[in-house]
Amino acid sequence: MNNELFINEKSEVAAISREMADLDLVSGSSGNVSMRILNQKSGYMAITPMGLPYSELQDKDIVVVDEELESIDDSGVPSSESLLHLGIYRSRPDVKAVIHTHSTFSSVAALTHDGIPPILDEMVIYIGGSIQVSEYAFPGSEELAKNVCKALGDKNAALISNHGAVSVGTNLREALNVSILMERIAKIYCYARMNNQMNPLPESAIEKERAIFEMKRKSKQSNGEY
Ligand SMILES: [Zn+2]
Repeated sequence: MNNELFINEKSEVAAISREMADLDLVSGSSGNVSMRILNQKSGYMAITPMGLPYSELQDKDIVVVDEELESIDDSGVPSSESLLHLGIYRSRPDVKAVIHTHSTFSSVAALTHDGIPPILDEMVIYIGGSIQVSEYAFPGSEELAKNVCKALGDKNAALISNHGAVSVGTNLREALNVSILMERIAKIYCYARMNNQMNPLPESAIEKERAIFEMKRKSKQSNGEY
């Protein structure tokens, strides 16, 4: 095994995973983090391993896999949700990082069928609008990957039915920021529903904020970020 292979990517994934654990977005080894490996054959990604607690994760624990989910440097067994990460990279060329969490309020919101309507300004600007819930599928399955990609569409977050949430970004920091925002939105949504205080954003604001979301995406494209 060559321990020097993809050392920067492994280090980035391990650092964000520990941060995610410190933020209480996951517990134990639940949830997972990956980044697309650029300048390699399509489908290569660095991903957290199966079954190791995030708080203790080290750079060497991160697994690099090809499109068949084979470890390309004998670095270990990838996360059981690898098909979800792979499915998102295949369907969204703009995405460079994926974070799947089991955060508490997002998991509560994932018990609904209709997801979260646009209730906060930053939700439209950073996520792209309402947050959809995927149709139920068994954890780790190809069907789950397909259903989550459908719920995600062109947005930066989705809820996974009876399970948790997924966030994406052009880098790991952006994906983590979306995960934090997602959990905050879900918390506000749950409290608002309990108190029957649902008051969606005005259509005119959603339109303007969606234009900002699309402008930010275009500027990333023209800056070569994807
Ligand atoms: Zn999960």
